[in-house]
Amino acid sequence: MFPAKNMKVSVQDGPVDAKGLKRKVLVAEQDFAVGDVIYKEEPVVATLDLDLEGKGTHCSYCLRHIQKGMAIKPEVDRLGSVYCSKDCQVKANVQSQKLLFSTEPYLPPELDAGIVGEQNAEAREKAQSELANFVTSRGKSTPLLAARFVARQVALETVKMIPGQSDHAALPKVCEEGNDYGLYDHIERLRFVEATVDENEVNMLREVFKTALPGLETAVNEEQYNLWKGKMLYNVFGVCYNGGRDDKPPSTERPEDQERTRTPYGTSKQVGSGFYPVSAYLRHSCSPTARPSFSTGTSELHLVASTPIKKGDELTVSYVDTAQHPDESADDARRRRRQELARGWRFKCECARCLEELQTADVAAELAEFGVERDESKVERTAERLAQGAAFPAAPTGAADASMGPD
Ligand SMILES: [Zn+2]
Ligand SMILES: [Zn+2]
Repeated sequence: MFPAKNMKVSVQDGPVDAKGLKRKVLVAEQDFAVGDVIYKEEPVVATLDLDLEGKGTHCSYCLRHIQKGMAIKPEVDRLGSVYCSKDCQVKANVQSQKLLFSTEPYLPPELDAGIVGEQNAEAREKAQSELANFVTSRGKSTPLLAARFVARQVALETVKMIPGQSDHAALPKVCEEGNDYGLYDHIERLRFVEATVDENEVNMLREVFKTALPGLETAVNEEQYNLWKGKMLYNVFGVCYNGGRDDKPPSTERPEDQERTRTPYGTSKQVGSGFYPVSAYLRHSCSPTARPSFSTGTSELHLVASTPIKKGDELTVSYVDTAQHPDESADDARRRRRQELARGWRFKCECARCLEELQTADVAAELAEFGVERDESKVERTAERLAQGAAFPAAPTGAADASMGPD
């Protein structure tokens, strides 16, 4: 069952999109009062904002702030990542960091049997350095999130080959016990926007995989990678706690090219981004019923009710800062939030608040100005068929999930 019953929400069919497909929405399975925590969710992958990576001030795994001098620093880490605890270090390593940015042999000695060993060390260092430079020089989180996502899928498969291995690679428990697989089927249903992928990006990642373990590069499929990246762009949340930070360097990119994460606090306040498979189903509203909260000071997302919610109500959050700032008129604020939505998620907001506030003249002007149709986000072909009523395919029961491998 997805989401797990204890999350007290369900995924259901909502209104139809521009293509006539039913959108998936998240619905409350019981009543909630204002301030109630509806559920808590761990990210499948997360990244610190790139300006904080390598600074030693925040944990690269859980995104927690680290007291001066308390950071755990791995011997070799091409991203300069540090951790708040041994636990975070081990998890990060198993899930993706070892494969992407460390010199540690990818396979444990009992499986490696000296095959890979030292022979690739130089090529591996070069491949990893290139990837790290690419990621940090762009200052964008999406390539790193997508790389970590692929690495994590590979790690899940690798762990299955190792008897008695700990479950540090295990996915967050968003499905019922023993049904983790289903997670990838549900990610398949998530919407995405078209991502721009640098020509070298996929090759760079493939090289990192190949030099860690020859053959592993087949896990990086260009089409699939582009899709993951588009899903990251559309679905990740900004992680922001304690009122957020004020020291994030302003983006030098054109507003159209800037990365945006779902956060009602504003992307400039966040310390990082996370991909949450259940919360990804939350639709945007400019007058939302809930908000993401990171009150533990980590990447753990708590969904908190911001209005009274009845069983059966759709849960919504605001993807952008909808407040009217001191230097803005009400019209300016409305224009800004709608423009951010159009740029980041490629849709024109049709929430109750927007419909109430907008005049017909505004709608026509926006079409010309934002250059976005009603909703340009997409779903995969399989998910389209499902939305049209086809039966959902049964999850594979074997060791390998066909949708994760190369084809
Ligand atoms: Zn940590
Ligand atoms: Zn709206």
